Amino acid sequence: MAENPFFAPSDLPYELPPFAAIREEHYLPAFERGMAEQLAEVEAIAGSSEPPTFDNTIAALERSGRILDRSATVFFSVAASNTTDGIMEIEKQISPQLTRHSDAIRLNRPLWARIKQVATEDPEESWLLEKYRQDFIRAGADLSEPEQERLRALNEELSRLSTEFAQSLLKATTESALVVTDPKELDGFDEAKIASLRQDDGTYVLPLLNFTAQPSLSQLTDRDVRRRLYELSVGRAPGNFKLAARMAALRAERAQLLGFPTHAAYTVADQTAKTVEAVEEMLGQLVGPAVRNAKKEAEALAEQAGFPIEPWDWPYYSEKVRQARYEFDGAAMRPYFELNRVYRDGVFFAATKLYGITFAERPDLGGYHEDVSVFEVSDEDGGPLGLFVLDPYARPNKRGGAWMNNLVDQSFLFGLKPVVINNLNVTKPASGPTLLTYDEVSTAFHEFGHALHGLFSQVRFPRVSGTSVPRDFVEYPSQVNEMWVTWPEVLANYAKHYETGEPMPAELVAKLEAAEKFNQGFQTVEYLAATLLDWAWHKLAPGETVDDPEAFEAAALEAAGIAFPLVRPRYRTNYFAHIFSGGYAAGYYSYIWSEVLDAESVEWFKENGGLTRANGDHFRRELLSRGGSIDPLTAFRNFRGREAGIGPLLARRGLV
Ligand SMILES: [Zn+2]
Repeated sequence: MAENPFFAPSDLPYELPPFAAIREEHYLPAFERGMAEQLAEVEAIAGSSEPPTFDNTIAALERSGRILDRSATVFFSVAASNTTDGIMEIEKQISPQLTRHSDAIRLNRPLWARIKQVATEDPEESWLLEKYRQDFIRAGADLSEPEQERLRALNEELSRLSTEFAQSLLKATTESALVVTDPKELDGFDEAKIASLRQDDGTYVLPLLNFTAQPSLSQLTDRDVRRRLYELSVGRAPGNFKLAARMAALRAERAQLLGFPTHAAYTVADQTAKTVEAVEEMLGQLVGPAVRNAKKEAEALAEQAGFPIEPWDWPYYSEKVRQARYEFDGAAMRPYFELNRVYRDGVFFAATKLYGITFAERPDLGGYHEDVSVFEVSDEDGGPLGLFVLDPYARPNKRGGAWMNNLVDQSFLFGLKPVVINNLNVTKPASGPTLLTYDEVSTAFHEFGHALHGLFSQVRFPRVSGTSVPRDFVEYPSQVNEMWVTWPEVLANYAKHYETGEPMPAELVAKLEAAEKFNQGFQTVEYLAATLLDWAWHKLAPGETVDDPEAFEAAALEAAGIAFPLVRPRYRTNYFAHIFSGGYAAGYYSYIWSEVLDAESVEWFKENGGLTRANGDHFRRELLSRGGSIDPLTAFRNFRGREAGIGPLLARRGLV
């Protein structure tokens, strides 16, 4: 027994998972024992002869399932970042079992009866108790026996389909990669990039990134190569259209069982938005101005090109207009954005200035891959805060995009400090330093904003630790952290030439800021189109089925007033992993919803002197440290001193 590393807490610092000791064959036995152990714990809670109290019911549930928690945390983190055929097989097998397990707890009638009788005066306990009640009701605790039967079946099928969707998408990034035999077709890339794409068989393979507009489209000079790349991008994983339609129909049926007219209504009910109408009112204010902006941009691009452009030309000519209008050259910036420097002298530096925290690399602590590094984070007084784990590079076995997750949740209940990880998808150069694009630098700051939310958590219970807040709130702190990317004191500290150490020339910085405002129409439209597509899939009425998902997609965009052939959704249905395998179903609106709070907060920082310890402390105390332990909009008001308005967001996006 002792040889399975999941059976006992890790003895590494901060209980960092012992990756070096974990082997694939440990996962299934750990899941099985973990589920059995938790079910026994839950049975003991539900069958207790004591009167139900907060401690013997809610806190006891929080204490349950430790082996399962450790196993699932590591497994799903590695499945996303460094998967193998073996792990994918386990994932297929275990996902429906985990769904059954969670239903076995939330549909346990004696347990639910006890939870309903618990009472407490303590504010943090009352908030958690209410969360538990909502979780149980939303999981179907109040339904009849036959309804619960149907619900279990729906949940299991949905979990199976979601794994299938993710796995076929990962395969498609390789299968749908652009393959060329003549390197001349890659004109526009520099030599190092071309070399890094060369395969043993002499071909050149450019893998797809996870969204519609591939960044390489801004560089490739051959129009036909651009067209091929674009078509591979929008047409990848075609089998996923049918899976998506099936999932949307099952979700609509489940929503109806749970008493909601649509899956969208079910989803937003426990978000800060609360109602479908609130979300639609906000999106409605944005669509018209965003499309108008994008059309204006399209005219400028056609003028630059000298012919009417196609969607695969947009990134190429927008880069050209940017260069002509702002003399901005994205490639000229990259030598100033060396990966290690961006972190140490940028991301970490800003955090030190704001919060007083410091970072020390711990080469003695390892991750699941040689490219993963671990940093110990200390408070201003030197006290230990937690670990920050960084996995920056793209791999064929890593899912697309960038994300943060916890490897250990902070909680006073277990006396645990947080271990958080950031995943990026930066292309690893064949040799030499890793030079980032401006977007990748922004992503690094963004993901680190999530990391801070996890690291600063000061809560009693794991259920509400760190980033365990509503989905339409969780992006807010990470977006705020992006404000430091171009903050003069921060930029001057990290944007230095990787060879000469020269600071980025002032005129380049000025151009960067001016050029930021360009292409906002495109960015807003591609985002809103994806949002409205997500919305359409999840406003299906129960019983309504979609036979032609591609036609449905086109009609949905048309109906929402966002159909614009030159700017397709950031994700089409077939590769919209956020909503079909990532937990953002009817939740993709969250990014712009959170941005209202973000824009307000950036304004607050600017009004109060920007990058100061006092400002950092205020944000940390009122917001970041609270995790999900209080009402999120109350935390925002405590920080900002007033309700949020949409004005700062509209101004920032050029939509007024
Ligand atoms: Zn984020």
